[in-house]
Amino acid sequence: MLGLMQNQPMLISSLIDYAERHHGDGEIVSRRVEGDIHRYTWADVAKRSRQVANALDGMQLKQGSRVATVAWNGYRHLELYFGVSGSGRVLHTLNPRLHPDQVVWIANHAEDEVVCFETSFLALIQAVHARCTTVKQWVLMCDADKLPADTGIPGLISYEAWVGKEANTYTWPVFDENTASSMCYTSGTTGHPKAALYSHRSTILHAYAAALPDVMCISARDSILPVVPMFHVNAWGIPYSAALTGCKLVFPGPALDGKSVYELMETEGVTYSAGVPTVWQMLLGHMKANNLKFSTLKRTVIGGSACPPAMITAFNDDYGVEVLHAWGMTELSPLGTLCTLKNKHLGLPEAEKMKIRLKQGRGIYGIDMKIVGDDGNALPHDGKAYGDLMVKGPWVVRDYYKGESSPLINGWFPTGDVATIDADGFMQITDRSKDVIKSGGEWISSIDIENIAMAHPAVQMAACIGMRHPKWDERPIVAVVKKPGAEVTRDELIAFYEGKTAKWQVPDDVVFVDAIPLGATGKMLKTRLREVLKDYVLPGV
Ligand code: ADP
Repeated sequence: MLGLMQNQPMLISSLIDYAERHHGDGEIVSRRVEGDIHRYTWADVAKRSRQVANALDGMQLKQGSRVATVAWNGYRHLELYFGVSGSGRVLHTLNPRLHPDQVVWIANHAEDEVVCFETSFLALIQAVHARCTTVKQWVLMCDADKLPADTGIPGLISYEAWVGKEANTYTWPVFDENTASSMCYTSGTTGHPKAALYSHRSTILHAYAAALPDVMCISARDSILPVVPMFHVNAWGIPYSAALTGCKLVFPGPALDGKSVYELMETEGVTYSAGVPTVWQMLLGHMKANNLKFSTLKRTVIGGSACPPAMITAFNDDYGVEVLHAWGMTELSPLGTLCTLKNKHLGLPEAEKMKIRLKQGRGIYGIDMKIVGDDGNALPHDGKAYGDLMVKGPWVVRDYYKGESSPLINGWFPTGDVATIDADGFMQITDRSKDVIKSGGEWISSIDIENIAMAHPAVQMAACIGMRHPKWDERPIVAVVKKPGAEVTRDELIAFYEGKTAKWQVPDDVVFVDAIPLGATGKMLKTRLREVLKDYVLPGV
């Protein structure tokens, strides 16, 4: 017997309709690329996202077509979030930090038809546009009178000229809630980047869950500054949860240095923020150097990389800010676990509470977790046994976009993280089984770094590993075995990377070794290599 409740599809357009109707005067504040501050309201976001929808209809862009953004956190980006997905197209948030060749590969793989980009990325788009074969329209996210002449990009129009002429009335289409809404590529693992293709349903369920008190705890009384980029897993879903709750949003634009973020937090009464450890390091450094305090900030989510204990202590003890340690992945929309204490933990001594806070957190409703051993069998949740972390749930990928085979193993998604789970359900990452390095919250593929070194005529074998770094969490170094009789210096090899990968992905150092430890099947044993290099210190650290 079926229930007799209304069968209304969960669509992203309903979020912006809700925000307009119930929180229409709620503020959205953005620092623009030009440096000034832009202010408007949820009602304005709603109107302008309908103008975006009309502009896309005007181009006769089919349902499901991909509309890409290359943009900072800001109001125009927010309008595209709702206008593109709400009208049935797929929002593809491109990561501008990637090497131009990777941007081209991703745009062609996604078959982007429209690309909206900010003036900061004009040079990048000038370098790639001719190779992006599916793009019909390039849109510069600027005022009509700011469109530069002679960019060399055919048909380039300004965002304001593009949407400005459109009506702000529009009837959002109603379709199956499983329809694709947005996509995000992750360059985490080997080979080409892979895309998670989110649906309206997965996005709304994730937005509900993210707002829960034991998850991100977002309410209409919050003023949220997401530092995590909107091109990185939809800023951890904050734009959607913000519309669902009607909180104020404060966008930092390109200014992510400690001083700029601090000033915006203070002037806009920010109560809540979210980002990777690296940005908080910059903020805390600025505050310490200038003897500053927060007057409104209460909580911050820290994730993307393990949160250092000193950061939790500094936020809590020196500034009275609660740190919510979080773990997630692009493939999980991204939230998997949040570290909030249970009632029974509140009376524990500080040191005991700290041990819990350092864990990545409890699985939230909607995410099922297990750890398995080498034989694939589930391991006990005793906080000691560690194994491969597997997850499943309605906002976890089933397949990658255009993927050849499903990544799932018996219905579970293997995360590539190694973890323990304790009896209270708190998960702690102990290692990573995937061969990648995470620097400042962004991925570097070890294989890519090794392949470049191997292309040098003097290199016989190369192994790239991540080394702990106080600011970037990890930085890559490459261990190299030279060909017999061949010569190459550290500096020559570092220079060899120039133009072959993004600058921030170039290894910090080259270590020449006699041999790289190999396993029985000829696979490089990086754990053994790490032991060999245990006394190694990164240059300048
Ligand atoms: P995000 O950076 O938003 O979490 P990514 O897909 O870029 O999403 O990266 C996911 C990976 O980052 C995880 O599989 C894990 O290896 C690492 N990661 C994420 N959060 C944490 C955390 N709190 N502690 C340790 N590693 C983390």
